[in-house]
Amino acid sequence: MNILQNTYLLPVNGKYLVYSPFASTRALVNKSAALEIKKGMKAGAAFSDNQGQVENLLIHLNEKKVLPEKRKGEINPLFLGIIPTRSCNGACNYCDFGADKAPDLYMPLKRAVSAVDWYSGIVRKNKHKLLEIHFFGGEPMMAMDVVETVVHRARFNAQNANLKTVFEISTNGQYHRDKAEFLGSYFTTVILSLDGFEPVQNAHRPLKNGRGSFQDARRTAEIISGSSARLGLRACVSDKNVDQMGKIAEWFCREFKPFSINFEALRETSETSIKNLYPPDPVKFAVSLIKARRICASYGIPLVYATDISMNPVYSSCPVGKDTAIVSPDGRISNCYLMPEKWKEIGMDLDFGFIRDDNVVVIEKGNLKTIRNDITKKPRCSRCFCRWSCAGGCHVGNTFPGAGNDYNDYCRQTRMISLSTLLDSLGMDEMTNEILEETARLESFANQSSDLLMDFM
Ligand code: SF4
Ligand code: SF4
Repeated sequence: MNILQNTYLLPVNGKYLVYSPFASTRALVNKSAALEIKKGMKAGAAFSDNQGQVENLLIHLNEKKVLPEKRKGEINPLFLGIIPTRSCNGACNYCDFGADKAPDLYMPLKRAVSAVDWYSGIVRKNKHKLLEIHFFGGEPMMAMDVVETVVHRARFNAQNANLKTVFEISTNGQYHRDKAEFLGSYFTTVILSLDGFEPVQNAHRPLKNGRGSFQDARRTAEIISGSSARLGLRACVSDKNVDQMGKIAEWFCREFKPFSINFEALRETSETSIKNLYPPDPVKFAVSLIKARRICASYGIPLVYATDISMNPVYSSCPVGKDTAIVSPDGRISNCYLMPEKWKEIGMDLDFGFIRDDNVVVIEKGNLKTIRNDITKKPRCSRCFCRWSCAGGCHVGNTFPGAGNDYNDYCRQTRMISLSTLLDSLGMDEMTNEILEETARLESFANQSSDLLMDFM
């Protein structure tokens, strides 16, 4: 690989942060050192007039690196996803999962068992040690019998093959305490949607029966918090709660002691505008998230941003492109949990198999290959330092084919958050404080069209 095309230079308050995701390098330098590094990398040599830090950096940067391996051959899923039903008892004002239009369809139990058996066979064949199953919806707990069947079948298969099980569920927590206790006993991780304090939660996430969702979500959070399962709290942030992010983070940490907290910015759709709900200003969101992250860190709890800087370079920051097999109630096997209409309307096809009526699993290898390849083509990301961590973000909502090469608000907020992550990793808290104070500079950085060292003059 050409390391120069994957090394970045980020201006921060008069200095420059050299960042190479492949060499795991992060270093703060001045302008003349940055130019020397560029010269030394172009020459592919570790020469420098400046003995010491620059020369060491060059030696490190010029070492041979390889791109992450692209998936090929037989399917090898990151995990098995099960959508027990698309139905939901919620009526969230920003729902992107089609719960309001979804047919009242529940996965037949035999189909659920076939999915688990097929996946268990692959895990055994590949000599992996884990059966990892994630549940999505709708609200998965609306089809409790499917969830129970999958859990018990997977445990049975795991016992027979000496494997471990990992169960994760994304849920709204709107059910009787018995169901929450079941999750607390059998699940590894419960990701609960809770958007903050009562007025915002009820405004964002009303129930179909007209009631607010706050009380039950809170009770489920308390039950999971006191159980052996890990509680993850996910909050959607709109213009209504962006100013409360710090307080929400503090409250989550204090009251529920979660395993992790995740803030996601609301994505605007025609439906959200009708409901008078708008995405947060990207600068406000990024600054509030960085501050909230510090509050969480003081409790020893990670605040996760899904497309933040990752330890290892990736082609995709979500399940898509990782062979993830997500089975819908109708038997389709897809790489993404959205309704197919969502990706079809932008010319994508993320289905790559199905479970036949006789419960035989069919994998369409051509489709799988196309998905694996397509996620690596992201023209917008080619000069962005988040290329190997965000990697395009949501392939359906953000960098779909024809989405354009200009940064959008999602890109800008991701770039600001990722910069602060890099500074934090260097222990540059003071510098992060400065950029949080000077948001105009932060915004100008977010709009920088190329971060590549080779474009630096
Ligand atoms: S350009 Fe946008 S989508 Fe692409 S990597 Fe950068 S932040 Fe992510
Ligand atoms: S493409 Fe978007 S909606 Fe689908 S799994 Fe990835 S991030 Fe989620």
